[in-house]
Amino acid sequence: MSTTLPQPTTCKPDTAIYERRESAVRSYARSMPRQFNKAEDVWMHDNQGGRYLDFLSGCSTLNYGHNHPVLKSALMDYIAANGITHGLDLHTDAKEAFLDTLETVILRPRGLNYRAMFTGPTGTNAVEAAIKLARKVTGRELVIAFTNGFHGMTLGALACTGNATKRGGAGVPLSHVAHEPYDGYHGPDVDTAELLERRLADPSSGLDAPAAILVETVQGEGGLNVASAPWLRRIAAIARRHGALMIVDDIQAGCGRTGGFFSFEDMGFVPDIVTMAKSLSGMGLPFALALFRPELDQWSPGEHNGTFRGNNHAFVTAAAALRHFWSDGQFQQDVARRSGMLERRLDAMAAEHGLSTRGRGMMRGIDLGSGEIAGTVTATCFERGLIIETSGAHDEVVKVLAPLVIDDALLSAGLDILESSIRETLATPYGVAAE
Ligand SMILES: *Cc1c(COP(=O)(O)O)cnc(C)c1O
Repeated sequence: MSTTLPQPTTCKPDTAIYERRESAVRSYARSMPRQFNKAEDVWMHDNQGGRYLDFLSGCSTLNYGHNHPVLKSALMDYIAANGITHGLDLHTDAKEAFLDTLETVILRPRGLNYRAMFTGPTGTNAVEAAIKLARKVTGRELVIAFTNGFHGMTLGALACTGNATKRGGAGVPLSHVAHEPYDGYHGPDVDTAELLERRLADPSSGLDAPAAILVETVQGEGGLNVASAPWLRRIAAIARRHGALMIVDDIQAGCGRTGGFFSFEDMGFVPDIVTMAKSLSGMGLPFALALFRPELDQWSPGEHNGTFRGNNHAFVTAAAALRHFWSDGQFQQDVARRSGMLERRLDAMAAEHGLSTRGRGMMRGIDLGSGEIAGTVTATCFERGLIIETSGAHDEVVKVLAPLVIDDALLSAGLDILESSIRETLATPYGVAAE
């Protein structure tokens, strides 16, 4: 048996219990009809002995792979010593160690002075906290978000999300947000930062003065659209000029996915507020954070609350991840090399078929032009043992979110599967493949 290739199984598990008892809202389980029972490094295993290469990484929650031995033993030691599991927002050894590590490994070397707010453990809660804080501090209501942005599923964050299907689930009006065109939305010749500046400067444009401008530097769910550094600097300057706070939602693009710990590093601006979640705990444990300038920390105690703020197990694994991966430059060098490989391989696939690529760093994909074709490609990949998903307004972009720790040969092997799946899908007259 090869040790480097996926070994998918074809046997579909009995899903009766899920159909009978689990809500129809489940989604990923439908496109990957297996029952998974173990995961290690870049692999997921099903309970029939199958093995899948994971190019989804829990939507970028598992940037360091599954059950990384350093994180796992830190957590096991902590639990074995009866470390605090739940402590509301009390001071704990685990929290202190996390904050110390965040300060010394991440913030100080980058010249960043942020306070850390532990929100409820999901990304959407960090976004809720960020926009609430911006509204509180500025006394304004409007948040400017962007076309194709994705910020979460609770009402405040959902109002900032573009996708109509997701928005449709709200059941109430989603208000106090304006969705402005993202970088490149009107093609390369229209400067959408200039459009925004013109509208904000015009007292008759109908666009109110915003509390915040909320932006992803790479739109993770919205099709891997990339904002350029000059565009982001202009957005930061516009926010400052108009008395609004700039919030970078780094929930998917941060934690190394685009190369640096933050996706905006070295771009020449500093966001007022940053939201983090997904790979922050490093091990897939729920953990979210809003970071902001100390002057903005105008909360009164408990004003944004939650029972599960500061997951102590996540503090342990997050601190271990920061120490292990971010204390020196080795990991970033490896990620940069893998990003280059990924870029070259995707560019070659795109050139072969006259398609285009999207994304930045280890957050890249290929635009197949339609959700049906992209869905056929990801289904074909899955049959061959590669877990991969789509992104974009029409799910038209096949998105590679390989673990950042993947070894180069395995990255290449996974991309071989993607390449052949695209080739075969596009060679099959469309409509025939679906039958
Ligand atoms: C996933 C994601 C969120 C929401 O995080 P949850 O943990 O699913 O609530 C918000 N913003 C971005 C950019 C995301 O990718």
